[in-house]
Amino acid sequence: MDKNTKILISEIPGEWTERLRSGKTNIWNACSHGRPHVNGLPEVRLDPPEVGLYAESIDGAWYWVSGCAKCNGTGEKWSYSVCDKHNVCRLCSTHRSKLTETPWGHPEGFTCKPCQDAEDAVEKAEALAKVAERDYDEWDYRLQDECKCPHCATVIHIESEDYGDKNMSCDTCGGEFELVTEYTVQFTTTVIGERITALGSRRGQGGHQHPQDG
Ligand SMILES: [Zn+2]
Ligand SMILES: [Zn+2]
Ligand SMILES: [Zn+2]
Repeated sequence: MDKNTKILISEIPGEWTERLRSGKTNIWNACSHGRPHVNGLPEVRLDPPEVGLYAESIDGAWYWVSGCAKCNGTGEKWSYSVCDKHNVCRLCSTHRSKLTETPWGHPEGFTCKPCQDAEDAVEKAEALAKVAERDYDEWDYRLQDECKCPHCATVIHIESEDYGDKNMSCDTCGGEFELVTEYTVQFTTTVIGERITALGSRRGQGGHQHPQDG
């Protein structure tokens, strides 16, 4: 796609400003909950004449322009107006229409399932190779600040709401393990009544007195 594409959208008056995007569809004066837009203008929905274009208001008129980060060279992440040519796996360039399994999203487009599987296998092998260099010592996995897979030593982030004791499997190596959330005992003390001080006790009791003395 030509990054300089600029096609006038004659259906849309230039003074319209309320436009939102839903996938490739551009919606002007979008209704909300079945009610017309508060500006009173009619809702109009248009799909671009070519995949990868979206509507942009330029100098008081609406135009279809290229939104493909690859064509435009903007390096924009998570671009959602990718053109047909660039709608391919970022690693093997398989076109999205040729995929047989759901791909994985990626800031630079998507990763097809076979490529993702291959990447995962490499990551697993690398992780396991690193651990294999030293002997396994279960103490390396006790009372750690982070949850570390005891097979491949990959650190697994646990949200605080997921704390607890449970069986887990590692996304990196597929190994099963048991997680125990350990708690540290700490103590807090606060004074009951008035705080005892050297000065205060002398004033109050007239010096030290042993009960047996009296
Ligand atoms: Zn493109
Ligand atoms: Zn691929
Ligand atoms: Zn692991």
